[in-house]
Amino acid sequence: MDEEGELFLQGLVAHRLILPSDVPGVFGRGAVFEDVLERFNALAGASAAPQVPELTCFPPVIDRKLLERVGYLGSFPNLCGCVQSFFGDERGARRLADRVHAGEPYEDLLGPTSVVLNPSACYPVYPTLTGTLPAGGRLITATNWVYRHEPSREPTRMQSYRVREFVRAGRPDEVLAWRDDWLARGLALLRSLGLPVREDVASDPFFGRAGRFLAASQQEQKLKYELLVPVISATRPTAVGSFNVHHDKFGSMFDIRSDDGEVAHTACIGYGLERVTMALFRTHGLETADWPADVRALLWP
Ligand code: ZN
Repeated sequence: MDEEGELFLQGLVAHRLILPSDVPGVFGRGAVFEDVLERFNALAGASAAPQVPELTCFPPVIDRKLLERVGYLGSFPNLCGCVQSFFGDERGARRLADRVHAGEPYEDLLGPTSVVLNPSACYPVYPTLTGTLPAGGRLITATNWVYRHEPSREPTRMQSYRVREFVRAGRPDEVLAWRDDWLARGLALLRSLGLPVREDVASDPFFGRAGRFLAASQQEQKLKYELLVPVISATRPTAVGSFNVHHDKFGSMFDIRSDDGEVAHTACIGYGLERVTMALFRTHGLETADWPADVRALLWP
């Protein structure tokens, strides 16, 4: 992280906006930070009008089989977080405690549970859509904690953070038009808050050499757009929102059909809530009292 980023991190900590821990990419959020985050999240929800998304909420863990089914372990094995626990008897438990107290490795005494940390806010939604969609399709929203194993001191690179997600399922033309409409809504929403945002075609961080081909194809087909705002660096802006079409990937995987009986298409958009919040502090300063009146009026009506 360069000096600019280091100063921003120190400012966030000094103003108790974030509460650091010993683990890179894991920190607490202070009261003012949370207030701004929740108020932006409310504006993101209101930006759906006149559509009314179905509200859902999922825990930060998902079925391990779901992660396997969507191909995550093939595409992003380095980012996954699998939950482990102890399955042994009392003797084994004593051995585990002894090793922990002696400061010795004990990972071999633990085994995988049936859950993993959810890496993508929309994953738990798709299995709930199995079946035939109503005419016009469906629009679901959720605010979910997600996990990515990418420890870093850089404050926008968190191991765990919240995403406000909207998932659209329906006929191909409906879904594509929705993504493009919501990309424009996203730009307007962030601009209304005074953020210097721009859009760009993007790709996911697929693992390895095969991953580079997947990323290139994703870019070529314009499957993913991101909204970018300078937070840590002016030349390398931070993605604060992503707008994705999946064609029939999840429709086929989870047997989701549109009202005409064809395999449904899906799209999702997500706002990285902590990142948007940091972008606001970066753009308008670390004291919310000093923020421009029009921005304050939107967040604290
Ligand atoms: Zn998604």
